[in-house]
Amino acid sequence: MSRSDTEAASRTPAFLEREHRLGAHNYHPLPIVIERAEGVFVWDVDGRRYYDCLAAYSAVNQGHCHPRILAALQRQAQRATLVSRAFHNDQLGRFYEVLTRLTGFGRVLPMNTGAEAVETAIKAARKWGYTQKGIADGQAEIVVFDGNFHGRTTTIVGFSAEEQYRRGFGPFAPGFRRVPYGDAGAVAAAITERTCAVLVEPIQGEAGIVVPPAGFLRELRALCDRERVLLMADEIQSGLGRTGRMFCCEHDGVRPDVLILGKALSGGFYPVSAMLADDAVMDVFRPGDHGSTYGGNPLGAAVAVAALEALVDERMVENAATLGARAFARLAGLRAPVVKDVRGKGLWIGIELHASAGGARRFCERLLQRGVLCKETHDHVIRLAPPLVITAAQLDEVLDAVEAVLRAGGTDRG
Ligand SMILES: *Cc1c(COP(=O)(O)O)cnc(C)c1O
Repeated sequence: MSRSDTEAASRTPAFLEREHRLGAHNYHPLPIVIERAEGVFVWDVDGRRYYDCLAAYSAVNQGHCHPRILAALQRQAQRATLVSRAFHNDQLGRFYEVLTRLTGFGRVLPMNTGAEAVETAIKAARKWGYTQKGIADGQAEIVVFDGNFHGRTTTIVGFSAEEQYRRGFGPFAPGFRRVPYGDAGAVAAAITERTCAVLVEPIQGEAGIVVPPAGFLRELRALCDRERVLLMADEIQSGLGRTGRMFCCEHDGVRPDVLILGKALSGGFYPVSAMLADDAVMDVFRPGDHGSTYGGNPLGAAVAVAALEALVDERMVENAATLGARAFARLAGLRAPVVKDVRGKGLWIGIELHASAGGARRFCERLLQRGVLCKETHDHVIRLAPPLVITAAQLDEVLDAVEAVLRAGGTDRG
């Protein structure tokens, strides 16, 4: 077939056109329409295969359509899916057991999306502040960071530093103080007797895989202990193996007071998130204080158990550590003038380009042509975050494509 015949036969444009016509325009996706996915691969409606190096923002750390999670979903979907928390269900306790064992926290509060789990943590911290720390009613403050990403609710975008996330959506909830990321001194200066918590991503994903200075988390831990402030780690994207440890905070030997999980907690099958803490914090919640119709439902619980077991039993975290080291070793030797910085941990790799390179999206489009899907973040950063089930040979193929595109300065024709 000639090139024009191939294009004429493509099913992609019709899908793009219909979505564009009927949907809200709150995203700017790459022009690929996926119809099937398995492990590290996705296939588009024209039958082309791609490496998925975004892994749904780390929600599919276990790889697409993992058979074990799929089996759990199918089994549970035929038994009971949703009964509401007005009644107990036989799956929830097992989910709590697996998750508390894995994290070392005493108690779990299950929700659905990441943003809801963050909202839950905010509520827990405020109520803890009033009932345990004696903060005057309505005065509690939470310290957050420039470059943060914690979700899209109105409260959460209200303390974002990203102008676009906020513009047009106010008024916003008060009670947040934002300081530079990685600056423990600024946190110390922001803490007052009204401060109930510090909310931090151990590595900032959406900000461009920003790794804080060594010792930052330990300084936060010491500061929070000294000032009696809760340290709340949002590990929705950094957790569950992405950085080569089960949780990113482990790299620094830091245990937060509140751990927030989502995304890979269900391996991409179903939204499941959770806030974890010990009794002293979790006991602030009384019946009726907080809830969610779908939170803690038996289908989500069964899926999450299978997702966690797959992660552990198949040693995906260890694979992320080993192959992450392999990727960083190779990228360290990369000589491409467009590259300003390569950073990250495990299989979470940010390649920052010089502003003169004209933006990362162009490079992502070239990678798409070479069969590798990635998404730019913050204009100048290419994010590589494949499923943690990727093999060394597959990773090498991805890096071959990345190197070729970077060396060509994003101008090659694939
Ligand atoms: C994705 C993400 C969230 C929000 O999760 P949703 O499921 O999209 O609501 C919150 N925090 C971090 C660090 C994230 O990466």
